[in-house]
Amino acid sequence: MRAMVLERPQTPLRATDWPTPKPRANEILIQVRACAVCRTDLHVVDGELPNPKLPLVPGHEIVGVVVEQGRKARRFGIGARVGVPWLGWSCGKCRFCRTGRENLCDLAQFTGYTRNGGYAQFTVADERFCFSIPKMYSDAEAAPLLCAGLIGFRSFKKCGDAKRIGIYGFGAAAHIIAQVAEFHGREIFAFTRRGDLKAQRFARSLGAVWAGGSETLPPRKLDAAIIFAPVGALVPLALKAVEKGGIVVCGGIHMSDVPSFPYEWLWEERSICSVANLTRRDGNEFFKIVPRVPVRATVDKFPLEKANEVLDKVRHGKVHGAAVLIP
Ligand SMILES: [Zn+2]
Ligand SMILES: [Zn+2]
Repeated sequence: MRAMVLERPQTPLRATDWPTPKPRANEILIQVRACAVCRTDLHVVDGELPNPKLPLVPGHEIVGVVVEQGRKARRFGIGARVGVPWLGWSCGKCRFCRTGRENLCDLAQFTGYTRNGGYAQFTVADERFCFSIPKMYSDAEAAPLLCAGLIGFRSFKKCGDAKRIGIYGFGAAAHIIAQVAEFHGREIFAFTRRGDLKAQRFARSLGAVWAGGSETLPPRKLDAAIIFAPVGALVPLALKAVEKGGIVVCGGIHMSDVPSFPYEWLWEERSICSVANLTRRDGNEFFKIVPRVPVRATVDKFPLEKANEVLDKVRHGKVHGAAVLIP
């Protein structure tokens, strides 16, 4: 099969002929129809995340069709359409797994990071960690729901019942979760790179009540803020933008260092937290909600071989919505 392979961090992916994988007992072989490109892929390729499997097929927002079943895999039939998310496997036995926090599993495996992912014509996945995809979505439209959507949703849940929510970094995750938040009656304040009027227009077109540069303060204090941009300097800025008792949620897996700031900005029960990975429960809840909203993902499609160019677009914030590779 054709695959885009990372041989060493900080080198471009190589278009390679790669052996088609065989599904093990609980796994299914999936013919990949679409794989969205996530900023995390960029962190893996750039060597910002430790110890990736090498060589590696990246990609963890996969939509495809089951073409072969492992010995014990019977959850989806041959021909069923499935989605493969970032959490590829968890042990089910550690204290995190036993307390509903499999996202923090000590032995967790991650698609396109410690397991091969979807920048290829085929991939294998443990079917217990896959999701059915609502019929109303095309393959390309559904792909970004698998991470941008899911991690965005987990970040949104951390905001509790916050009415006014700021989103820093209006990319793939933000454009999906803004729609979910509005469906729940929340107001979205969108923060983009300074002067990125195109992204600000895009945010307003999705219903944001305000959009501006991330260096500015919003017209009203926020109840919560979610930071998707990998920029630590946004943490103190977001803290200044939230109301007493407000929360700042860091939704990314990697961020530059957070600069120091006066304790006064945290005072009055403001809090900061991060979101790590996802649980299958997040996925089940999310895929029930998306068709009701209904979430509409804005996608740009590219052939698989363009993966390096697409990663570069993500690096420079040139994608409005989500970029999706089509093998
Ligand atoms: Zn575990
Ligand atoms: Zn991701």
